[in-house]
Amino acid sequence: MKQRFEYLEKAHVSKVGERELREIKDDEVLVKQLTCNICTTDYQQWMGLREHQGYPMAGGHEGAGVVEKVGANVHTVKPGDLVAVAHGGGCGVCANCRVGDTGNCLNKPKEKHRSEDGYLGEFGFADYNIRTEKQIYVMNPDLDPAEAGYLEPVATVCRGMKKLRLQPQETVVVIGAGTMGMVNAQVARAYAANVIVSEIMPKKLETAKAMGFKVIDCNEKDPVEAVMEMTDGKGVDCVIVAVGATKANEQALQMLKKNDGRILLFAAGYPVPDLPYDSNVIHYRRVEIIGTFGAEASDYNEAAKLLNTRAIDVSKIVEPKRFKLDDCQAAFEAASTPGMYRVCIELN
Ligand SMILES: [Zn+2]
Ligand SMILES: [Zn+2]
Repeated sequence: MKQRFEYLEKAHVSKVGERELREIKDDEVLVKQLTCNICTTDYQQWMGLREHQGYPMAGGHEGAGVVEKVGANVHTVKPGDLVAVAHGGGCGVCANCRVGDTGNCLNKPKEKHRSEDGYLGEFGFADYNIRTEKQIYVMNPDLDPAEAGYLEPVATVCRGMKKLRLQPQETVVVIGAGTMGMVNAQVARAYAANVIVSEIMPKKLETAKAMGFKVIDCNEKDPVEAVMEMTDGKGVDCVIVAVGATKANEQALQMLKKNDGRILLFAAGYPVPDLPYDSNVIHYRRVEIIGTFGAEASDYNEAAKLLNTRAIDVSKIVEPKRFKLDDCQAAFEAASTPGMYRVCIELN
C-alpha cells in the first residue's frame, strides 16, 4: 500500500511525499493515523530555528490513530483500538532500560535514524504508519484524537512532577499559560495541588480562566506581589517555569516561600535565559532548582491514564481550526503564530 506523508525539504518548505509502505512484521502494528499535532520542535524547524535537526525531515510525534492490522506476536492492541504514539521506549533490556531510564537506552543508535529512502523523523504527519507495540498506548475511544495526541507532552509533564515531588495541597505557581504551561497546571491540579497561573497574553489568560485556574494578569499586577497577597505574604511551595525567560526565572525565586521552596525549570528558551540568582540565597533559603526534559515509559503510562480517565482536560488547548495533510504549509504558519495552542493536522 501507499503512504502519503508530509516532510520538510528545508526551512519554510513543507511538501507531501508518497512511497510504498511495506507489510508489517510479526511484532508490528499498522496504524491508520487520524491526527498529529504540531509540536514546537516541528514548527520551529519549519521556521528555520532548528536547522540542526536535519533534512529531509518527516517530523511529527504527537499523533493518534486507529489500529488497522496487527502482527502475529502483538497482544496488547487489536484492530479498531484508538492509540497514541510515544517517543523512544528504549531496547528494554540494557542496564539503563532495566531501571526504567529508557530515555538513556545504551542501545540507542549513535547516528540519527534515517529511513532507507533517506528521511529523518518519525513520519508523524502521514496517513498510515507502521509502529511497534512498544511505541503505542491504547487510548479512550471517546477522546478526540487531537486530545489523545497529547500523550507525549503530558508524559513530559508527568516526569517533571515526579522530579518536583509535588504533594497534595501544596500551592504551585505556573508561570506561562502556553500549551505546556496549561498541561503543567492541569497535571498539578490532578495531583491535588492548589494552582495559580501567571500570564501576560489576554488569549492565554482567558484559556487559563476557562479551565478554572486562579490567574494573575501580569498587565494589571506585578505577579510577585500578587502571589504574596494570595498567600498572606508566605509565598508558594513550588514554581513551575513554563516559559524560557530570565524574567520568569527571577520571579520564580521571589514567589517562593522563605525556606525549602522548589523551582522546576520546564521550558528552554532561545536566546538562553539567565538564572539571576545569588548562590548564597539559594544556600540559606535551601531552595531546590530542578531541571526536567523528556519522559520515560512509566510517564507515558501515567499520561495515558490521566487523559483516558479525563483527570485532565486538554480540549481547550487544541486550536479549533484543523488542517489537512495537503495544507501542512498553512498549518505550520498557523502553529508558528504567537499565542497559538496546538495546531492539529487531520490525516485521514
Ligand atoms: Zn512534542
Ligand atoms: Zn536500552
